[in-house]
Amino acid sequence: MAYSYEAPVSQALFDRASVVTPGGVNSPVRAFRAVGGTPRFMVSGTGPYLTDADGREYVDLVCSWGPMILGHAHPAVQEAVLAAVARGTSFGTPGEGEVALAEEIVARVAPVEQVRLVSSGTEATMSAIRLARGFTGRAKVIKFAGCYHGHVDALLAAAGSGVATFGLPDTPGVTGAQAGETVVLPYNDLDAVRAAFAAHPGEIACVITEAAPGNMGVVTPLPGFNQGLKDLCARNGALFISDEVMTGFRTSRSGWYGVEGVEPDLLTFGKVMGGGFPAAAFGGRADVMAHLAPAGPVYQAGTLSGNPVATAAGLAQLRLLDQAAYDTVDAVSREIQGLVTGALAKEGVAHRIQTASNMFSVFFTPDEVRDYEDAKQQEAFRFNAFFHAMLAGGVYLPPSAFESWFVSSAHDARAIERIAAVLPAAARAAAEAVA
Ligand code: PLP
Repeated sequence: MAYSYEAPVSQALFDRASVVTPGGVNSPVRAFRAVGGTPRFMVSGTGPYLTDADGREYVDLVCSWGPMILGHAHPAVQEAVLAAVARGTSFGTPGEGEVALAEEIVARVAPVEQVRLVSSGTEATMSAIRLARGFTGRAKVIKFAGCYHGHVDALLAAAGSGVATFGLPDTPGVTGAQAGETVVLPYNDLDAVRAAFAAHPGEIACVITEAAPGNMGVVTPLPGFNQGLKDLCARNGALFISDEVMTGFRTSRSGWYGVEGVEPDLLTFGKVMGGGFPAAAFGGRADVMAHLAPAGPVYQAGTLSGNPVATAAGLAQLRLLDQAAYDTVDAVSREIQGLVTGALAKEGVAHRIQTASNMFSVFFTPDEVRDYEDAKQQEAFRFNAFFHAMLAGGVYLPPSAFESWFVSSAHDARAIERIAAVLPAAARAAAEAVA
């Protein structure tokens, strides 16, 4: 199929959107600022494909930034959603769907003894931090540069590398006071964490980390890093929070916990567990969760928390995610990685594919990427050329060099062939790109 690169209908929609919405989008990365060009306005999705407002179909390697692990419009998920909608969409009371979803999460992830449902990953991490502070009676939070935990004020401090630094706000609107209790450290550096605990004895409430980071591109935790964090937290009376919003129920049936087996005190979830709807969660040790209102004093609430339609979607999706489904997603991921690296190698483009189970990203650097500073060394201009050539050929990649790619169990041989067909031109574009 031949693809024209122009997208007049998307452009017209973007122009309209830009009048009524800042930057024309409701979440910044969608605006294509990193790669340039017209963001594609999508109108429908089926299996591994998205169709844009200009009527063009793309193989989707974003999968709504993770949630659509069974592909778009999966019939069983749709059926559960339609049945839930028919019963009414929000009651503001408890309901059985939330119990069943909580039970499914508890059954899958051993360290989660109790779980609270919320509506977004941001809410989950914000609430987990508040709970950790309430439980420990301490203020400071350790996070890692390049890890994204949603737009929680205290966690929008990613500045600082090398030695322990107090967080400086990354964005206007976050005050020094809000970010000032955040200690930002380089990822994969246990010595820095040790030093921070030594510098702030009895002050650190928790360490929060992406279970396996995907928000600076995929940076795999070095062997022993997560266990080291857990041990340092235990030794210093702090809680270890593993943010599994991206990895949860994607990297295995029990998320990254299922891959590594390191037991966090608290975990956060989102994306896959919502089946394409706003549902997220945080949970963990029962003695810690007991501090949450109404059982305990730490306040947390939500009008739409545990929404019956969202929980029906999430539960339907999780129930379909058996080992066979993960095997398929893993195999699809490996096959696409192989095709990408083959095409880039053929054109002599220095690159490195990094993985966390079936999550992966392509760094345009020959060197191992262990932290955010490494990630920034890549030749992102090559990614941008690669991205646009893939888009022109009908393959939708994350519009930034610093993101994970996501695949689904619906990416079949036909979808993979279409990716393979476009890769040679995209690899050539990457090779020819100039800064
Ligand atoms: N934590 C991680 C690891 C994420 O990747 C994200 C979003 O991408 C979030 C938290 C925030 O989730 P949400 O966008 O649902 O607020």
